[in-house]
Amino acid sequence: MDIINILPDSVANQIAAGEVVDRPAGAVKELLENAMDAGATQIDLIVKDAGRTLIQVIDNGSGMSDCDARLCFERHATSKIHRSDDLFAIHTMGFRGEALASIAAIAQVELRTRLHDSELGTVVQIEGSHIVSQQPTACPPGTSLSVKNLFFNVPARRNFLKKDGVELSHIEDVFKRIVLIHHDIGFTFVSNGKTLYELRPGTMLQRIAGVFGNNYKERLYEVAEETDLVRIRGFVGKPEHARRTRGEQYLFVNGRFIKHPALSSAVERAYDEMLPDHCYPSYFIGLQVDPSRIDVNIHPTKTEVKFVDDHALFAILRSAVKKSLGVFTLANQLSFDTPDEFNIGPAPAGYVPPAPTVKFNPDYNPFRSSAPAPHKPNLDFPGLDDIPEPADNLEFPDATTPEAAPAVHASPCMQLQGRYIATAISSGLAVIDLQRAHERIIYDRLMSVEQKASAASQTLLFPVSCQFTVADAELLSELLPDLRGYGFEIETAGQTTFVVTATPADMGDMQLQPLFDQMLMDYKSSTLQKFSSRSQSLCASLARQMAVRPNREMAQEEMQQLVAELFACPMADTSPSGKKIITVVNPETLLK
Ligand code: ADP
Ligand code: MG
Repeated sequence: MDIINILPDSVANQIAAGEVVDRPAGAVKELLENAMDAGATQIDLIVKDAGRTLIQVIDNGSGMSDCDARLCFERHATSKIHRSDDLFAIHTMGFRGEALASIAAIAQVELRTRLHDSELGTVVQIEGSHIVSQQPTACPPGTSLSVKNLFFNVPARRNFLKKDGVELSHIEDVFKRIVLIHHDIGFTFVSNGKTLYELRPGTMLQRIAGVFGNNYKERLYEVAEETDLVRIRGFVGKPEHARRTRGEQYLFVNGRFIKHPALSSAVERAYDEMLPDHCYPSYFIGLQVDPSRIDVNIHPTKTEVKFVDDHALFAILRSAVKKSLGVFTLANQLSFDTPDEFNIGPAPAGYVPPAPTVKFNPDYNPFRSSAPAPHKPNLDFPGLDDIPEPADNLEFPDATTPEAAPAVHASPCMQLQGRYIATAISSGLAVIDLQRAHERIIYDRLMSVEQKASAASQTLLFPVSCQFTVADAELLSELLPDLRGYGFEIETAGQTTFVVTATPADMGDMQLQPLFDQMLMDYKSSTLQKFSSRSQSLCASLARQMAVRPNREMAQEEMQQLVAELFACPMADTSPSGKKIITVVNPETLLK
């Protein structure tokens, strides 16, 4: 006897619906995301009885054709994926073509939609996956989707719903998670005839104020950072406004709310000791990363994501937040003997971190070594990466006294394995990655001379001429103003030849042809990544090449100079490419 049945689609859809729409808020999220995917600039959400009786989303997006208006309720009906490759480059919100099919399986749905260049729209009625009717109708361009009597045919689910207040607050959560990051879209939210939110398009700060109240504007510092890996934009709460609950903590990636405990702790750890015990900062931070570097497909309706580069992201995010809190400016408290000067606390309102003013030692040249270091086999330093304490417990000085910064780090330095410098700082033993530290210093210096247009040059004894392919020569010509800004004196001499007569002051006698070749290569590949600006890309490439290589012996005073310069950098603990520079072994660990 055969016992296997194929479930009818309507039953299969009902089962699938449980995954996508477990409560009214789930349907709200799907409908709002569809409206945004359709390019809407104004979206209105209307609910009755916390979504039990009605959820309606009206948008002015693309609208749908008559045929699409029926098709969109089919399972796996989506206009967003054509090939399996698309799954990996997906930018839109929903991407399984399941939401509408699922919702239609468990509710009575009415869809009114009109393409912008059609005279008439169409209205489709569908109930428990069955199309009841479709007719032409007069309606504005865009889409209005009404979901009535959710779970009318799934009593178990319906009975499982919580009190209206609870369901409404879930809907409100979903709404906030969307509107905060999509601040350029206008939204309204009406519940039982009462307007809860009316949000005009605007900046993120205006949106935060629109959602949480105007007084939020004074409670926040702005965060902005751009690296090859990530573009960070957002706001973090001033420490004095921290709360006892983790209330307003919003992290978004590529326009989507996410939960990521590690990244959240990166934000919280940036506050160090600035927060009272058991208090949490609020934050609203959007990250933009190359979509191929994240895996959002873990579960499309959930909020977890995985990043390929999560360690680097952690470091960059923490540093960026530190920077905007104004705490990681001048680490002039490098030795154990000046604890009284610590003044760790919130920066005053409107405080702009001062430019570092570490004196530059003109005789210091990390490239001018007596002889090139013999190339030793790259001895890995076992265990160093395992030292438990990350460099987030550095103590920070009173950032308003830059003149206190020593030109040279006071404590003795020791070179380890050719790759690290170990030295005492106020919070323990710092182990500094030499090459990354130097990269950071050079990068900051190049970026800052570029802004001031006053680069120090050293004239070459003999001009050096460099040859390029026609394409590279053209590219280099475009970059000449930038290079001159960094201190190069460089002229064209024929179509593909360039002559260099001076280089940035701290460049030593580097080979210029390979330097430019690599720089052009980096530049070409980084222009594919839209998050780094032209100068960031150039400076990062030059810094990487100019940074001291491991295994070069350094003099004591050279190391102390380097440490001092490192600590004068606003993002001293992260290299331009997002790698960790400093590991601190804290006194407790030392004690053990
Ligand atoms: P997905 O969003 O994963 O594609 P959905 O079931 O949510 O799947 O929607 C199916 C399709 O219906 C979408 O791909 C889109 O083409 C169309 N659609 C849904 N909502 C709207 C809307 N508000 N405006 C225009 N088209 C829509
Ligand atoms: Mg969708």
